[in-house]
Order: sequence, then C-alpha cells, then structure tokens
Amino acid sequence: MPIIPPPVRGRASIGTSNEYYDGENTNWWSGNTNNFNPGPMTMPAAPWVTAFHYSWSTAEAVEGEEYNFRESSGYEVATTEVELVPSAPPPGSPLELAGKTNKFVLLSVTAAQRDRNGPTGVPIDWSKIKVNGTFINADSNIFLKLTNSNPVTVTPSLTGEFTNYTFSVAPVAHTIVQLTFAFHPKFLENGSPPTRSELQAKFDSASLDIFGKDEDGPIGDKIPDSDPRVIPPGAAGHDTNQWNQTLYNTDDVPLYLEFVVNDGPLSTPPNGTGSYPIFPVVYEGTNCQTTNFFDVWNRIDLELLKRWGGANIKVVNTIEIDGRQLSGSAKHGSSPVSFVVARDASDWVLAHEFVHACGVYHRNQKVWMEGLDESDDTLWPIPNPGPEWHALMNGNNNIAPGGIINRAERAAIEVHLNSNP
Ligand SMILES: [Zn+2]
Repeated sequence: MPIIPPPVRGRASIGTSNEYYDGENTNWWSGNTNNFNPGPMTMPAAPWVTAFHYSWSTAEAVEGEEYNFRESSGYEVATTEVELVPSAPPPGSPLELAGKTNKFVLLSVTAAQRDRNGPTGVPIDWSKIKVNGTFINADSNIFLKLTNSNPVTVTPSLTGEFTNYTFSVAPVAHTIVQLTFAFHPKFLENGSPPTRSELQAKFDSASLDIFGKDEDGPIGDKIPDSDPRVIPPGAAGHDTNQWNQTLYNTDDVPLYLEFVVNDGPLSTPPNGTGSYPIFPVVYEGTNCQTTNFFDVWNRIDLELLKRWGGANIKVVNTIEIDGRQLSGSAKHGSSPVSFVVARDASDWVLAHEFVHACGVYHRNQKVWMEGLDESDDTLWPIPNPGPEWHALMNGNNNIAPGGIINRAERAAIEVHLNSNP
C-alpha cells in the first residue's frame, strides 16, 4: 500500500540564544581569576547546535607589566577559543527524517577594541573580522556549513591592526525550507533513479555559494542595509539625495536559507517492486500515448506536472519546449512551491527555479497581464528591473548568470516564505 505523506513545505527556525561569552583574544583583561573561567556555555535545544565550548589559556603576566591578574586592579592577557559543537536534530523531526549530513549554522560576530592604554569598547567594523578564514558579511553574520558532527573552531580573527579586543559569537536563526521531491518511474528501469541525497547536495551548495554570500559577481563588495544608498523610497531612513537605484538593483545581499529535501509520496512502480517517491500513474505517461512526462516536450504536460501538488520538486529526464532545451521550469509564485527540473539540473538551476516559484521574475522580463494590449509590449510592466549581469534571476542566454540576489528579490522571497507556512 502506498504511503502518501502530505507535501512538506514552509519553514522552521533554529532557536536563538542570547547566551554568548564575551571572549578575549590576546586581550587585556581586568578582574579576577573567575573571569577566566565562566564554564562551558550551553545553548537551548536547537536542531544543529547544542553548545558553544569555550577554552582559554592560563593567563600569563605580560612582560614588563607590573600587574598581576590576581589583583582586581590588574590587567592580563588571555586567549579564548570558541568551538561550535554540532548536534543531532530532535528525534522524529522532519530534519532527522531527512538524514542530512551537511548542516548550516548562522553566527553573528562582533568585536570591540580593548587596549591597556588605548581605546576600550570601540566597535570594530565588520569588514575587519574573519571566521574560519572568511570575512563575515556586512550584517555581521556568517553562514557556515558543518559537514560532520565534529566540533568546529569559530574563534574570530581580526585583521592585523587589532591586537587587543573582545569579541562575541552568537547563533542567529536562519530559515529552513523543507521540500519534497518525486521522479518519473522510468528512471528505475536503468537502476539509478534520482536520489534525495543528490538533490540535497546541490541545494547545500546553493545555500552556501549562491544564497548565503554577499559578494557574488565581480563587484565583490559588501554593503550594509543601513547604507543610505540602498534604503529605498518608503523605507525608514530613506534619503532622496543619497538613494542610488542602480546600486540597489545591482548589489548582492545574503539570504540564509537551508533546504531540507525529503521524499515525496512513496508508491510501488507499475510492474515493479519497492517503494519510491515516483509520479502518480496519471503522470507516468504509460496510459496515454500522447503524453510523456519523462522526456517532456509538450507545454501542457509541463504545466500539468507543475500543477501536481504531491511534491515540490518533480525530476524528469529532459525538458524541451518548442525546440528549446530547458533545465527547469517553475510554477510562478506557487504555494507550496512547485517546479520541474531535468535530472542533470545544476545547483544554480535549482536555486533559480526555487526563486521563480517564490514569485520572482527574470531581471528585465516584460510581463503581460490581463487587460493589457498584447500587441504592444511597450505597455508591459517589468516587475524585476535589471541588470541581468551576474544575476541569479538572469533569463537572458547572452549574458552570464551568477549568484547575485538584490534587496528587492530578497524581500520577495522572504515575503513568499513567510506567507506560506
Ligand atoms: Zn528562469
């Protein structure tokens, strides 16, 4: 008997925690010895992370310094290491059932100066802070991929001009998008059907390299949301004189999404054995000679597949519409999100179709709407203005695509995910 779980969609959040240790790295420290040993900080239950472990070296007197850390008025140098300890997701949760190997964690990292004879408490700019050898983003966050259950060192490091400072590392909630997939049963004939793990690996790479980065494309700069050049009209802090529409459209922003791919409805293939997340019989193309949902070449078949709500992602062998080979096609602004992809679709294609499914058009795409004069496309609106250059939502074959997601696209994706729990 087929097992048909409902399609999984929407979001769950990793718990937030205010618990952090204001650590020191070769830092002047005042106070008594107890300050050096606050004990391991335990985070509240969260899917991926149970604890930050802090360790610190025994304080050493600084050469030439008359102070000793045992004196309350003294200063001392101490080094703090921060370790992130991955954990298993809660038993029985969709996250556990998915059996993911890679897990993502979002950290907020800040630092402040602390000198014996210099400034104390002056915030250090995000652009000077690295974690794991990578500079953090302009929002002070960094998105990390944990590849196994081993602890990961996340001690911030600063650019050379800072030697004495305090820092804090705190976990921040990111969005978990749960998706189900199904494939055409004809894939079973050659014994190597699409697997959940191959899709998961592509989504993991999209999370890190396309969505989570704030420097895709040759501009390579990071601009905080508080920069008046990118605060649009109508938003708090907008300044007509500094507002820069071109920069707003062009600049990349990070979007912290972790995808969890689950099997769609399981059923036994016709004339076969076992249970697989395969299309229902009506989409198998075996009963009707005029349709083919394995190598899709008919626009109506493609539309029917997109409309099937049993799974979010439908994997077919190839898609060719009007002689044009496609790697994927999404149901625009669908809830739950729905898209069809070819087996060999890349991580970029999966990310691109997902964003279409969240209701985002190609950059510079003219969109015909009811009531418009179909023959005069100068009247058609462009809901997502350019540039196509290095954009994830580039649909122009003559311009190189990339991983840039701008603020308007990010807002549209967030609204779609938030309004479709
Ligand atoms: Zn597209």
